[in-house]
Amino acid sequence: MAANAPPLTPAQFMAQEIKAFRDDPRTLRVAPKVSSAEIRRRLEPYTFAHQVPLAEALRDVADMLRHWTLHATHPRYFGLFVPGVHEAGIWADTLAALYNPQLGAWWHAPAASEIETHTLQFLSKAIGYEAGAAHFTSGASEANLTALLVAVATAYPRAIEDGVGEGAARGAVYVSSQAHHSMHKAVRVAGLGNRVLRTIPCNARHQMDLQALRVTVATDVASGRTPLMIVGTIGTTTSGAIDDLVGIAEIARAHSAWFHVDAAWGGAAGFSEQLRPHLRGIARADSVTWDAHKWLSVPMGAGMFFCRRPDVLRTLFDVETAYVPKETDEGDDLYRMSLQWSRRFIGLKVFLTLAVVGQGGVAARVERQLGVADYLRQRLVRAGWTIMNQSPLPLVCFTHKTLKQPDAVALVARQVAVRGRAWISPASLPEGPVLRACITHDDSTRADIDVLCVELERALEKVSAPRGR
Ligand SMILES: *Cc1c(COP(=O)(O)O)cnc(C)c1O
Repeated sequence: MAANAPPLTPAQFMAQEIKAFRDDPRTLRVAPKVSSAEIRRRLEPYTFAHQVPLAEALRDVADMLRHWTLHATHPRYFGLFVPGVHEAGIWADTLAALYNPQLGAWWHAPAASEIETHTLQFLSKAIGYEAGAAHFTSGASEANLTALLVAVATAYPRAIEDGVGEGAARGAVYVSSQAHHSMHKAVRVAGLGNRVLRTIPCNARHQMDLQALRVTVATDVASGRTPLMIVGTIGTTTSGAIDDLVGIAEIARAHSAWFHVDAAWGGAAGFSEQLRPHLRGIARADSVTWDAHKWLSVPMGAGMFFCRRPDVLRTLFDVETAYVPKETDEGDDLYRMSLQWSRRFIGLKVFLTLAVVGQGGVAARVERQLGVADYLRQRLVRAGWTIMNQSPLPLVCFTHKTLKQPDAVALVARQVAVRGRAWISPASLPEGPVLRACITHDDSTRADIDVLCVELERALEKVSAPRGR
């Protein structure tokens, strides 16, 4: 740039940054190499005692993010359920910040509220669930907590006045050993405590063992406990297992327990003809959690809570406030139906992404990822690795017979991360430690899998070579 060129405006800088970052993320390391000390040194000039021009601060912060982030938006990030994001979501989040609509009350943000309702109605149909009410949440953790609160309010209507003291002693919440840790937080936050949590073992496919569930529920009921809620998962975090929702629904109904489905990642299976049969039973759920920020390629956070019982939501969350004008009859005020008051326009990034990609486009993306995962499985098996899960979803857990030391599997993941060309995580299944690779990016290709496999072979050689040489 010529020395006398005018400095970029913030808008020009952002346009350039977005283009540069998205044009070729593969030139970046996936995992950063950095220490907290290095970052803190870089932040020292920010004493906030003087003012920094916006474009300059943006440039500096963007540079830090580029170099010091584990890039989940890199096509060779085969990690947790953080997706590569579609461009529509980036602009949507920008628009949401620009207009900053407050969705707590319908009348405060009519367009935004209706865009969200429209989007949620469509997504509810996409998974075959008839929701009486739905709202966006910060994530699945908030949605799962909401499910538990609604379950408690249903089982103990008096808890809204009296608190959960009495209920806490007599309740039970059933999750599988592979369920997400947010349920553990939820029982504590809800004031029930860890004591109510019943962890049901899984079968060889990492699905909740229904016979064990039946026995545990029966034992609890016999000793005077109330089954509050049973949680089924579509797409467990470690191995992508899908619980037998029909079976769980029957047990839940027999005991009048709330049946919650956690489809945080797996919900997007509803878009695919090939995967939709795996959602069988979701229609019977009392509530469903689904994260658009997991498999629908939108930036964090975009959780969703779907519920069959708007009446219970209203009983649970309705409050009178002197400073909020009375609702109109146009639409539900979300602050009376959910945990949040100030509400970000979360739904716009989901709406815009769906509008741009289209239903068929989402299906095609999901199914492409299935193909990439199949290719990974084939390559791994050919190279002598053992696949340790049987998920229909694009998530592969694997190990190698030469990885015998307790920390060997974690060392392989570490070796891959340190070299920076790909990223996978170590995880643990009842069968032992595993490597876990999840396809999360629409642009991940077979060539990216080839790179991962080269990195894996290299790491395996290094880790399984006798130590001390
Ligand atoms: C990610 C995940 C959660 C937690 O969701 P957040 O949006 O991160 O709060 C809960 N359950 C399952 C199955 C998940 O995959």
